[in-house]
Amino acid sequence: MLNGSGKFIVRSAWEILRITEVKKEIFDNIWVKGVPFKVSFFLWRVLKKRLPIGEELIKMRVVDNVRCCCCNEGAHETFQHLFLTCPATMRVWETFIAATGNQIHFLQLVVTIKKWWKVDSPAKLISLYKSIPAFILWHVWRRRNATRHGESMNFSNLIFEINRSLYNLARTRYPWLKYLPKQWPLIVQFLEVYTPLISHKVVAWEKPQRDTFKCSCDGLSKGNPGPSTIGFCIRDWEGNLRYAEARKLTESTSLIAEAGAIKVGMEFCFNNGMTPVVVETNSLIMKKVLDGVSEVPWSISLEIQNIKCLMEKGQISMKHIYREGNQLVDYFTNLVVHFVGTLISNSLQELPGEGKNIILLDKNRTANIRIQKCQNSNYGFQDTTTNIYNNIS
Ligand SMILES: [Zn+2]
Repeated sequence: MLNGSGKFIVRSAWEILRITEVKKEIFDNIWVKGVPFKVSFFLWRVLKKRLPIGEELIKMRVVDNVRCCCCNEGAHETFQHLFLTCPATMRVWETFIAATGNQIHFLQLVVTIKKWWKVDSPAKLISLYKSIPAFILWHVWRRRNATRHGESMNFSNLIFEINRSLYNLARTRYPWLKYLPKQWPLIVQFLEVYTPLISHKVVAWEKPQRDTFKCSCDGLSKGNPGPSTIGFCIRDWEGNLRYAEARKLTESTSLIAEAGAIKVGMEFCFNNGMTPVVVETNSLIMKKVLDGVSEVPWSISLEIQNIKCLMEKGQISMKHIYREGNQLVDYFTNLVVHFVGTLISNSLQELPGEGKNIILLDKNRTANIRIQKCQNSNYGFQDTTTNIYNNIS
């Protein structure tokens, strides 16, 4: 029970004592992120044959004979028949596989499900393909129950219910897509050719004008709300560090931390004669709030009042900068959030190596590349078809 270093650890003892089973691939694929628990759990019940289906009721001698109520073939209600070979069910399987451009030979239920999980698919479709067997079985079962209780659900409705579940899953998985086709064959086509467009921008820290200071501010919240840090650093017109400070806050949100950082940074500049000063924040919300473009969130109304008071005294201006150009203070806040205490530095020499490097790179106007995904494009995809499921009656 000793580990490689000759020490006793509970984990090594647990590994010896616990009884392990060989991992079953089949159960690894049942749980797909975004699929409702009841649907995944239903698939598990089918695979474990734990359903009050005719086949099982006969085995338990509850009844002598149960015929499938979803077709006129007079077949026994077995897992294999209801969930695979019943004519309507078979058409459902075929309809959904046809849209993917793949082929499966539907011979045995468990084999069919396993094949679905292994269908070759582009990355964006993996989870959707994996979830299809669960959705098909779930809706076939709902249809069977409705029919058994005297209601009806025709074939088209069955298809549309499964389609809706898949669309909802795609929406949950890719909430940033502004456009997403609603029908399964088009969803497949759309996500097959999905390539996010990337844009880039060159961002560099700029020295302020002569005789002006620059105060870079940043607020950080791990968890939002969670442990937070505020930081600011002041550099002169030559890019030399004059003062830096970062300290922890109690549990807070990103917005409160951003506002706190600006307020504390401004106060320091004002009280220590480091004016005129350009105060920089990478929080676009804060910039908009201070410009009067956005409403003041109630959680920071007091800070905003204080900041505006300081700004009214003059010699302070606000500027927005991308995070890539605000690396020094970002480095300070990240450093402090992982340690207890405060970081105060009056000169370059007192800083850790990484901080010194950032200052030197900023002085030389070394550019950082800001990369952004364009999420609103539909990438030239054309939704041309209205009657996409052929031959549905
Ligand atoms: Zn049937």
